[in-house]
Parts: sequence; C-alpha cells; structure tokens
Amino acid sequence: MKNISPDIDFKKELKRNSGSSLNECIQCGTCSAVCALAPADKPFPRKEMIWAAWGLKDKLIANTDIWLCHQCGDCSTWCPRGVNPADVLSSLRQMVYKHNARPAFLGKIVSNPIWLPVAIIIPVVIIAGIVFMAGTLTIPEGPVNYSKFFPHAWLNSSFTLITVLVYAMASVGVVKFRNDLKSKFPDVKPKMNFVTSLFQLKKEVLFHTKFGSCTTNKSKRVAHFLIFYGFLLLLLVTVYAIIAAVTHNYPLSITNPFKIVGNIASVMLMVGLSIFIIGRLFNKKVAGNSNYSDWLLLISMLLLTISGVVVQFARFENWDLAYHFYFFHLVCVWFVIIYLPYTKFAHIIYRLVALSFAGAIGRK
Ligand code: SF4
Ligand code: SF4
Repeated sequence: MKNISPDIDFKKELKRNSGSSLNECIQCGTCSAVCALAPADKPFPRKEMIWAAWGLKDKLIANTDIWLCHQCGDCSTWCPRGVNPADVLSSLRQMVYKHNARPAFLGKIVSNPIWLPVAIIIPVVIIAGIVFMAGTLTIPEGPVNYSKFFPHAWLNSSFTLITVLVYAMASVGVVKFRNDLKSKFPDVKPKMNFVTSLFQLKKEVLFHTKFGSCTTNKSKRVAHFLIFYGFLLLLLVTVYAIIAAVTHNYPLSITNPFKIVGNIASVMLMVGLSIFIIGRLFNKKVAGNSNYSDWLLLISMLLLTISGVVVQFARFENWDLAYHFYFFHLVCVWFVIIYLPYTKFAHIIYRLVALSFAGAIGRK
C-alpha cells in the first residue's frame, strides 16, 4: 500500500495558472485517446489530470510525459467536460521552472506580476551601475555612437559574465530536474547516454516534426518555426557583432550582410510572435488559456525585437532619444537572455533534457 500526499497549495496554483476546473474531469480518457503524441503504454494526459485533481505535486513535477506534449490543444478540443488538459500540462511545465529555479527568488520574480517591478529594477540598477563604473553615465554629444555611452568592452564582458554566472546557478536546478525524472524510473536502465539521446532529437528540433501531428492549432508549427530560426539567426549576428566590435568593423553598415540577416531574422521573429499573440487574444479556444508566464515571454521577446530595430534606426538617423532606447533594449536583452532559465523560455532547456531522457528509456 502506498501513501499519497496531496499538496493543496500546489493544486490551487495549478488551477489558477491553467484556468482549469480540475475536479470536473471524469476520467473518460478521451484526451489520451485523441492525443497523437501519447505513447500506448500509460498514455497522457488522463493520468496527469487525476494526479492534478488530487494535488500530487511530486508525481507531476518529476513527470517525463508532460514534456512529450507539444500543446497542440487537440485534447482540450475533444474533452467533454471542458477542463482543458492542454493548458494544465502547459502550466505544469511552467511550474517546473519555478520549482527548480536556482536561486529560487529569480524563479519567483518572473512568475508573478506582483514582482514585475523588482524584475525590472534589477537589470536597470545593474546596467546603470556598470555604465557608471565605466565612467560614461551621461548622454554623449555628437552623432550617435552607442559605445560612447556603454563601451563595448564593458558591455560584452559584463553581460557575458552575468549570463555565465546565472546559467551556472540555474544548471543546479536543471540537474536536479533530470535526477527527479530518473527517480520515477528506478528499475529502468537508460539505453544510451545523455549526449547520444540528445543527438537523436535533431530531426524533431530542426523540423518541428511533432508539431505536424497537431490538428487543432496548425499555425503553431509555422509560428514556432519562425521564432526558433529567427532567434538562432539573431544569436549568430550578435556573436558576429561582438567579434566585429573587438576587431575593426563596427558599427556595421545597413548593407553589411550580417546586418541584413539580422533584419530578416527580426521580421521572422515579429511575424512568429504576432501569430502567437493574435491567437492568444482572438482565438482562445484554439490557443488555450494565457497566463502571466505566457505573456511575459511573448511581450519581452517582441519588445526585444522591436527595440533592436529601433536602436538601429536611431543610430542611423541620430535620434535624440537613441541612448534611452538603447538602455531599454539592454533591459529587454536581460529579460529574454539572462532570465531565460526561469521564464517560459526555459522550455528550450527543460524540454531537451526531458526528451533526451525519454528517448534514452525508450518512452516515445
Ligand atoms: S480531461 Fe477531459 S477528456 Fe481527459 S479524462 Fe478528463 S474529462 Fe475526459
Ligand atoms: S495538447 Fe496535444 S500533445 Fe498535449 S496532451 Fe493534448 S493532445 Fe496531446
């Protein structure tokens, strides 16, 4: 006989985040039957719905199956009780980031709107502090040159150092997460190591193959594809810009091939993000419930992309507010990149870890 220990606060938080009336699930199993991604053996999300209704936090937080779900929404469409299992699994994944956040306060300040001012003040104070230490905390005269306000050596070294430090702390939580997943399969020996199982995901990651099984939210694959590749291209351009700043070729001209690629990537991101935002605003039946974490990621990524384009034109046109926009852009960079392991963006880490583990134990 096993004891179960319900966590009522966890259940309340899950209800709040997902907007689902968990207790109305009648365990009919329709959701598992229609899910194209659920394995035949112990399929999801029916079993997760009963665990959620019972508040079984330990089982849900360390559950590999919630990561096999790609939030297509088919289960919610067919659920006869309207309890939206797709939104429940999505909220569970977000609660995993918060549960494993190291340091915990960073997970807290990006998962609750009450803490938004703190989440904003931290980068504002730190960025202003670095500029102050660099001795350039005044708006420079003459043509716009961002390196006069925030010298590239200071910018690149400080942001790199902070990112490495934050990610190193966050990795403790990610390792704990993987150990939690393993603990639920004590008798199963992984068939391959982490790197091999990660490599086996390449087709799924590069072509978004799982999204192809979706029948309810087909636009999601296109939107996710645009954001994924737009973001990768922008990362590539940023790395080049950092190298260019150290060598000779900076600032980049508007006709520089990397600049052109960067602008194409910005358009890809804006289109992908707009598809998601429009869906969440005007097609809630398909896009599902939208909570604070969903909006924080979409809006911070959109503001990052728009402000990146604005600071570029502000430089070419010598706008008076160019340096203010630049500061705002750096805060957006902080929100998207440095807070990444704690926001919904963390799915790029947690999902890869979970899917590689699922592949290693043969759960597909
Ligand atoms: S979530 Fe809906 S479809 Fe799934 S078991 Fe419960 S009532 Fe049935
Ligand atoms: S949202 Fe889609 S993938 Fe996720 S459980 Fe429902 S049907 Fe399956």
